[in-house]
Amino acid sequence: MRLATLAWTDLPAPSGPLLLVPLGATEQHGPHLPMNTDSVIAEALTGSIADGRTDRIAGPTLHYGSSGEHAAFPGTLSLGQAALELAVVELVRSADYFRGVAIVCWHGGNAEALSRATQLLHGEGRRIQVWRGHQVGGDLHAGRTETSLMLHLAPELVGKERPAGATEPLVAIKDALMSGGVRHVSPNGVLGDAAGASADEGRQIFAKLVDDLEQFLTQP
Ligand SMILES: [Zn+2]
Repeated sequence: MRLATLAWTDLPAPSGPLLLVPLGATEQHGPHLPMNTDSVIAEALTGSIADGRTDRIAGPTLHYGSSGEHAAFPGTLSLGQAALELAVVELVRSADYFRGVAIVCWHGGNAEALSRATQLLHGEGRRIQVWRGHQVGGDLHAGRTETSLMLHLAPELVGKERPAGATEPLVAIKDALMSGGVRHVSPNGVLGDAAGASADEGRQIFAKLVDDLEQFLTQP
């Protein structure tokens, strides 16, 4: 089910299904991927586990996150950590009708705000779970992983270029990244290497992520 297109009378009483909220970002994804890459991926994952079910419902996507590390690139928009934390807290507080809330997040920069929000909400006795997607062994940002996923999900939004950026592991570039932002370590905005990306690989990565999310939601 999709919440945005229902009337309130379509919803079961007295309590609702599990509400899944896709959380992305509006931030640069290199010269070949769109600003809404994280939102497209989060929304597709959410749809694939909520559609056709009455015990789960996909809420509208939250398209803004905490993307300060990408601020040096034109077009990036960010709520910042404090505002994102508060947005998630108030959103979940307003969702008491639902059996619980699961945030489906595809943007690493949102992690800190989400963990603070979760802690606060759990202290209030609210049911919130946060799934933060990543591909094991995948690259960090706008590289092969995300380019493949986008070739699978929204090929019309992917440019022809398959650029390489900073390919060092996160631990090697973390300090420079924290102090100077992504542009400091990768002038084109890519953390990884998009060479070799394909729709077929994207389909396989997507299927694994769906499995992982499904497992996360059904764990006791
Ligand atoms: Zn991304």
